[in-house]
Amino acid sequence: MATPPESSPPPHFLRAIVAADQARGAYGGRVVTRFPPEPNGYLHIGHAKSICLNFGLAAEFGGVCHLRYDDTNPSTESVEYVNAILEYVNWLGFDPKDKVFFASDYFGKIYEYAVHLVKKGKAYVCDLSDEQIRETRGSTTEPGRPSPFRDRSVEENLRLLEGMKNGEFAEGSRVLRAKIDMANPNFKMRDPLLYRIRFAHHYRTGNTWKIYPFYDFAHCLSDAIEGITHSICTLEFENNRELYDWILAECDLREPPHQYEFARLNLTWTVMSKRRFLKLVNDGHVAGWDDPRMPTLAGLRRRGVTPESLRTLAERVGVAKANSVVEVEFFENILRDDLNSRAPRGLAVLRPLKVTLTNWPAGRVDTIDAPLFPAELALPGTRSLTLSGSCFIDASDFAEAPPKGWHRLAPSGEVRLRHGCVIRCDDVIKNSEGVVTELRCTADLDTLGGRAPVGRKVKGVVHWVDATTAVPVEVRLYDRLVNVEKPTADDFLSELNPKSLETLTALVEPAIVAPGAATHWQFERTGYFFRDPVDAAMGKTAFNRTVTLREGWTADAPAGAGADAAIAPTPTVAITEKPGAAKALSPEVAARRDALVARWALPDAAARPLAADPEVTTLFEVAAANATPAAVASFVANVVVGELRSANRAPPSLDGAALGRLVALTEAGTLGAAQARRVLAVLLAEGGHPDAIVAREGLAKVSDPAQVRAWVSAVIEANPGEVARYRAGQATLLGFFVGKVLKLSGGKADAAVAQALVAEALS
Ligand code: ATP
Ligand code: MG
Repeated sequence: MATPPESSPPPHFLRAIVAADQARGAYGGRVVTRFPPEPNGYLHIGHAKSICLNFGLAAEFGGVCHLRYDDTNPSTESVEYVNAILEYVNWLGFDPKDKVFFASDYFGKIYEYAVHLVKKGKAYVCDLSDEQIRETRGSTTEPGRPSPFRDRSVEENLRLLEGMKNGEFAEGSRVLRAKIDMANPNFKMRDPLLYRIRFAHHYRTGNTWKIYPFYDFAHCLSDAIEGITHSICTLEFENNRELYDWILAECDLREPPHQYEFARLNLTWTVMSKRRFLKLVNDGHVAGWDDPRMPTLAGLRRRGVTPESLRTLAERVGVAKANSVVEVEFFENILRDDLNSRAPRGLAVLRPLKVTLTNWPAGRVDTIDAPLFPAELALPGTRSLTLSGSCFIDASDFAEAPPKGWHRLAPSGEVRLRHGCVIRCDDVIKNSEGVVTELRCTADLDTLGGRAPVGRKVKGVVHWVDATTAVPVEVRLYDRLVNVEKPTADDFLSELNPKSLETLTALVEPAIVAPGAATHWQFERTGYFFRDPVDAAMGKTAFNRTVTLREGWTADAPAGAGADAAIAPTPTVAITEKPGAAKALSPEVAARRDALVARWALPDAAARPLAADPEVTTLFEVAAANATPAAVASFVANVVVGELRSANRAPPSLDGAALGRLVALTEAGTLGAAQARRVLAVLLAEGGHPDAIVAREGLAKVSDPAQVRAWVSAVIEANPGEVARYRAGQATLLGFFVGKVLKLSGGKADAAVAQALVAEALS
C-alpha cells in the first residue's frame, strides 16, 4: 500500500509511473528500486541525485531500495571504493540496511542464463576480434554483416563457452554474443556482446572467473535476480532498454523489471566523472578524492556542504527526460539557505589591519554578549566578545581614498564595530613602503552595547576581532576548480583554475574555536565556513570556506540604528564587488551593463548580474520604471535571479510591472522580506497583481500597535528567563524578542513597531 508522502513532493513522471503500477497491483504492489554504482571511484554530486531518487521513491511508496555494487569489471574496482560508497550513501541520509548486494555474487547465475541462451540458439561464441566486430556492425545507413561464427551449432557453442569459462582460450580471442538482428536500426541489438575473457584478479571473486559479463547482460539479470521492479538509470542507457527487455524475455523471466531513464545531473563549472577525478587525484592536481574542491560527496562534506542541501537540490532540480545543465549558483543558493539557520555568526578577520582606540581607558576590557543568530531567525544562543583598546578589522574595510558610496572606514570617517561601538578614524599609519599598517581611531563610548543616541547616524558596520583575545587559525578560500562554465571532455586539465585555493591565517573570536563549538560558522560579511573534519581528527584547526555569502557581489552591511537591532536591513543602495569576483564579460553583456549603468545610475557591480541575461535586463528595466531602480536591482539580483535559476525552467515569464510594484510594496514597508518572496512565488507560479496577492493571502505587514502588542505580550510571557536577563541589563536581547514576535506573527509584524513595543513593555 502506498504510504502518503510526508510533505507532498513535486510530481514527476517516475513518481507517476510507480504510483500507476502500484494502483493496478503490478508486482503484487511491491516497489523495489536500486542504486547500482560501480565501485571504481568515489560518489559525486550527480550520484546524489540518483541516490535520492531511488531511495526516495522506495520510501515514498513503502518499498525498499537496494544498494548494488555493479562490480563486473575486475581491473578498476576495489574494496576502498565499496566502503566509501556505503559511507556516503549513509551520510546522505539513506540506509540500505541488509539490502546491500554485489553483482559479482551473481556470476554463477548469470553464467547459467548464458548457457540457457546458447541452448535456445539465442547466443553464440564469436571468434572475431574487437576490431572486426566493430567493422562488421554496419552504420546508421547500412545494416551490419553477420559474423561467420553466427551459425555455430548449439553443441559447439556450449563447448566453447565452457572452454572460455575454464580459461582455455587467450584473452580477447573469443566472446559470447547474443543472436538478435544485424539489421536492427538500434545498434545495441546487432548481436551485442555478453561475455568476454579476462584473466584479471577480481577484488571479491579472486581468480575464480576467467570470463566476465558485460554491463548489458549483467545489469538486467541482476535486477531480475533481486526482484527489482523499477530500474532507473540515466538517459545514455535509453538505447539499451530494448536489449534489457530482450534478454529478460529470452531468459523467460516472468514479471521482469522495467527500465526507465531520467536526465543526469550536470552542473556548470563542474567536472563530473569518476574517470576524470581519478586523473585529478593521480596527477596531484588536488589533494585527494576528498579535496574540498572536488564535487565528490567526500570533498563536499569536507568543504561543509550538508546532506540536507544535497537532498534539496535533488528535489528542486526535479526529474526530467531531457538533459540540461544546472547552474552551480542554483545549488549554492540552496546551500546558503540551509546554512543560514544552521551556522552561528562569528567574527573573523581574514586580512587583519590593526586599529588602536586612542581614547580607550588603559587596561579596560569590556565583555559583550552577542547573539549567535540574527533576530529574524529567532534561534537561541549568545557568546561573549571582548573589546579593548586595540582590535583588528579587515584591510578591505578601509580605503584611504574611498570611492563614491563607500560605507566603510576612511580617514575622518566613522563605522560601527559589529556589536561594539562607533569608531572614527583619525590617523593612518604607514610603513616605509607606504603600506597602511595601523589605524588610530577614537571610540564613541556612548554607542557601546548597541546604543544609538538619537540622531546618531553611521554609514556602515564592519566585523572585527579584539586584539587581546583573537585566535589565529588557518583559513582556506576555495574557488571553482575549473575556470570555464562548461568544461570540455578531453581537455579539462588545461581548464583548471590556478587560483582555486588560497590559504590565509585569519584572526577569529574565541567562540569559534572553543571546545565543543559548532563546526559550521558564518563569518559575518565573509562567508560560510566549516571546520575541516579531517584536520580536526589530527588535532589541527582549520576552516574551509563552504560558500560565499552572495553571488559575486554584496550589499554593504546595514547602516544602523543600533547595529545589534533586530530589524533586518532593507537592501542598501551601495553595492560593492567582492574581491576576485570580476569576470571578463562578453561584448554583449558588457554593452548591456554599460547601458544599465548609464540609464539607471547603477554601480557597475549592481548592473552586472542584471546584464548577464537579456531577458533579466528587460525585466529589470520594466520593473525599475515602477519603483526605485537600486531597490529593484538588489531584489532582482538577490532574489529573483535565484528563483528563476531552476533546472528546467526557462527565464522570466514574469511581468516586469508587477515585479516593480512588488518592490515598491517592500520599499513602502507594506511587505517584509519573507512576504515579498511569497508574493514572488505566486507571481512566478500563476501571475497576477501583487496588491491582489497581498490582500488574498493576508500578507501585509501589521503595524497597528494594538495587534502587534498582543504578539509582544505572548512572547514576553513565554520567555521569563530572557525577560529577567534583559531587565538585568542585557540590552542585546532586544533582538531576540523582536525575532520571536516576527516569528509568532508569521513574519507579518512590523519589526520597528515590535521593537518599540518590546522596549516599552520591558522598561
Ligand atoms: P561517471 O560517468 O560520472 O563516472 P557512472 O555513471 O560511471 O558515473 P556509476 O557508478 O555507473 O557511475 O553510476 C551509478 C548510478 O548513478 C547509475 O545509475 C548512474 O546512472 C547514476 N549516475 C551517475 N552519474 C549521474 C549523474 N550525473 N546524475 C544522475 N545520476 C547519475
Ligand atoms: Mg558507469
